Amino acid sequence: MTNKELADLIFPNITKTPSDYELEYPARNLPENAKVTRFAPSPTGFMHIGNMMSAVINYCLAKSSGGVFFLRNEDTDQARFVEGATEFIHHILNYYKISPDEYEFNGETVGNYGPYIQSERKEIYHAFVKYLIEIGRAYPCFLTPSEIDEIREYQTKSKKRIGIYGKYAKYRDMTPEDAAQKIKNGEKFVIRFKSNGNFNQKFIFEDLTQGKIEFPENDLDVPIMKSSDLLPTYHFAHLVDDHLMRTTHVVRGGEWISSIPLHYELFKAFGYKMPKYIHTSLILKKDEENGTIRKISKRKDPEALMFYYEEKGYPILAVIDAVLTIANSNFEEWRTNNPDKPFYEFPFSPKKMSPSGALFDLDKLDNISKNYISKMSASTLYNEYLTWAKNYDEHIAKLLENHKEDTIKFLNIEREIKKPRKDYENYSSIFPKSWYMYDEEWDKDLNYKFGKINNKEEIIKIMEEYLTTCYDDKDTQDEWFNKIKVLCDKLGYASDMKKYKENPDNYKGSIADFTTVIRVVLTTYDMTPNLYDIMQILGKERMVKRLNIFKEQYK
Ligand code: GLU
Repeated sequence: MTNKELADLIFPNITKTPSDYELEYPARNLPENAKVTRFAPSPTGFMHIGNMMSAVINYCLAKSSGGVFFLRNEDTDQARFVEGATEFIHHILNYYKISPDEYEFNGETVGNYGPYIQSERKEIYHAFVKYLIEIGRAYPCFLTPSEIDEIREYQTKSKKRIGIYGKYAKYRDMTPEDAAQKIKNGEKFVIRFKSNGNFNQKFIFEDLTQGKIEFPENDLDVPIMKSSDLLPTYHFAHLVDDHLMRTTHVVRGGEWISSIPLHYELFKAFGYKMPKYIHTSLILKKDEENGTIRKISKRKDPEALMFYYEEKGYPILAVIDAVLTIANSNFEEWRTNNPDKPFYEFPFSPKKMSPSGALFDLDKLDNISKNYISKMSASTLYNEYLTWAKNYDEHIAKLLENHKEDTIKFLNIEREIKKPRKDYENYSSIFPKSWYMYDEEWDKDLNYKFGKINNKEEIIKIMEEYLTTCYDDKDTQDEWFNKIKVLCDKLGYASDMKKYKENPDNYKGSIADFTTVIRVVLTTYDMTPNLYDIMQILGKERMVKRLNIFKEQYK
């Protein structure tokens, strides 16, 4: 019996060969140096910040070179499938506007290199496995899970390298006849790659991020097709898919780098050119409790999963910039010099990615985000804020819709100017700093943050005098301020800071103490955006109402 006959016995219905697929998926017709990249997550968990980093880098590499970015659903580990994970991947890519050029989702396929879902590519993988069996580079292996456990135990005890290689690869040299007999007897098997490598022989591999690395050759007979569902293992699917989909650059988590010897040998077995690799760094964070730097954890750190940023309402571009800031050491400088360029024009340089790990910190994201939000027009911010609220806080959404004009006016305070206020790091942080603009919110227990002047009678005196004799909605800011100074002096406060500092005891307080009283009665806070603008939005009538609330509430 020949290997070919054995291959036919195992795959009787597979008639196509790798060469047929070679013709079916020809080299892509793209400009020179255009990069073909892919995001290839497994739906075994919800998309996390590490996945996001890969996706953004892939997107940048493809877009900045006029190439193609495609999405491949690596669903071969069906036992670990997580409901909703695939939908979430698509949602995140669309939400962040890093949509793939080619993909398959909800019955729709876009692109000529599909199927883009691995479980739908079984026939293709089988053609490649069949070919390897025919040429004697793969074989059915009948080791049972318990036999494999025994081998591992033995290897551990006797301090040998773990794995199925050399004498442990018991079925590697079995004749096709014997193998065929076992198969006919219904014995379970996986298909293993038949390695030609020599572990004592080294080769040099160049990773675009990690640099040149010396590896021992692979000599493990690794499973390439599982017995349970006849699906390929990750390694084999990587070879077949990235070859046929004409990937030029593989961006993947650093944990895969140890598989390079195997991937190198697999590509060599078919005579295919390997793509270029960028093994990304681990995402690290400073532990809040003990200050040590550790790997970000999906279990412990809510910011590890991509839900977090959407729920908090970070602008999408701020999140992408934060990711690129940790991914490439020259991104920040590029962003400073190109504040308005789309992020995907950034020439991502794999060499400028720290091989040891990327430190992610939320303060950094907050700063980037504050900057982004401060540059939005008031009406853009209103729309973004409302969109967020509609998804995450109905109550706020209603207030925003019922008070659209005033909300935009409020958001416009110290905005649309050269140096805008930078007080919101995300959409969820706006309401705690603006609730006081909505009369409906004044029915709760209020926490007035008065400063030096906190005596109720004195406050009422100031406010009554201010509202009856001083404040006029029609005044300009200068007119208002001049009138405040007069009232200040009249009531025993110093309108002139210099004079006050010379003789503080001669006054009840300064003009700053005086205006703080007005600010706190109207907003409960001692710090707010420009008070004059706030009063212009409120108008006198509502200011009087707030004074009445103060009279009832303040003890
Ligand atoms: N499915 C693999 C993972 O999620 C993909 C690795 C790769 O990009 O090749 O880790």
